Amino acid sequence: LGHDLVESATPATVAAAVEGNPPALPMPPGLDAYLARGGYVALRAVRRAGDAGRDAMLATLEAASLRGLGGAGFPASRKWRLVLSQPGPRHVVVNADEGEPGTFKDRYCLETEPHRVLEGMLIAAHAVGAEACWIYLRDEYPHLRHALRREIAALDAAGIAGLPIHLRRGAGAYICGEETALLESLEGRRGYPRHKPPFPGEHGLFGRPTLIHNVETLWFLPEVLGEPDGAARFAKRGRRGRQGLRFFSVSGRVRRPGEKLAPAGVTARELIEEFSGGMAEGHRFAAYLPGGASGGILPASMADLPLDFGTLDSVGCFVGSGAVVILSNQDDLAEAARNLVRFFRDESCGQCTPCRVGTAKADALLRAPRWDRALLEELAAAMADGSICGLGQAAMNPVRSLLRHMPEAVP
Ligand code: SF4
Repeated sequence: LGHDLVESATPATVAAAVEGNPPALPMPPGLDAYLARGGYVALRAVRRAGDAGRDAMLATLEAASLRGLGGAGFPASRKWRLVLSQPGPRHVVVNADEGEPGTFKDRYCLETEPHRVLEGMLIAAHAVGAEACWIYLRDEYPHLRHALRREIAALDAAGIAGLPIHLRRGAGAYICGEETALLESLEGRRGYPRHKPPFPGEHGLFGRPTLIHNVETLWFLPEVLGEPDGAARFAKRGRRGRQGLRFFSVSGRVRRPGEKLAPAGVTARELIEEFSGGMAEGHRFAAYLPGGASGGILPASMADLPLDFGTLDSVGCFVGSGAVVILSNQDDLAEAARNLVRFFRDESCGQCTPCRVGTAKADALLRAPRWDRALLEELAAAMADGSICGLGQAAMNPVRSLLRHMPEAVP
């Protein structure tokens, strides 16, 4: 459940943050610093343009090809249009509950410039005529909760907010990063994903049309909508015919792991060589996870594929939230796949049988000294076809991709 300022069993640092004392982690820059850098100029401009400026905003968003960057890659402008087509009152929800293994971009954005995300949120709220904004924040980021509370209060005091901004805590459930489970949690219920349709844009928070955006999508909005030629400049920054920029969380056996702002369509090899200082000492590139736990595993021989939404469909993988994990000749790839399936077994919400029973069954099958490949494939197909949400549908991606692309690594 997501509760505002309700304590659960939390470490001392969290308790300290709730009491008003920031824990010993980097505290992000405040409102004054952001205003001094020209912050909130884009928001002022779109508010000045009023309702009449809405069509121009949507056209600009389309020209930028900005997508929802939480994992699904749905075009942002289509989300806005869907919400706008529904009668008010409407809500905006910020999904800051990143839990995908290897993903730390929300943390990077909120630590680096929280007001850029808040400005993006207020621009989106203006665009869809929202009456309130809701931020659902991963509970493992207590310093960011402290900072956001402080900065939301500063926005209120400065008269910039213009509508209520509610900050809510997640409580450590991976599934609550799934947008409809998040809505359930925000409403005070157990985080069970909803059946779709209806989509949140039609029937979202408290049954109202709701625009849900990831932190990263909002991060780009002030730049795309607020700068002269912002959309065109943003769109031009992709590679290999892709458009825009993406945050990639690069981890594993590289010399300089971290958050990398790179062109959409960059390859894993380029992320290693150009952005991460090459492979770590003593490690030879063997394989990579292009999209966290659920995006599958690919061999190093496929490291020149462009990383973007839809570009890995043909090889049965996806980039999702852009968590790229680099594995080396010193890693046991079958054990990596086992570990990922165990993660999904633990994080399955248990609502539907194909996922609840399927992840436990897969975990048991993967412990055998020799994998029953035909049975694993059959189980994977049943889970992909019958699960309610993406967790169960993608839980076997690591196993499936290993069987398909690196059968020599399978016991
Ligand atoms: Fe829950 Fe898994 Fe079913 Fe999703 S697929 S609703 S996580 S049991």
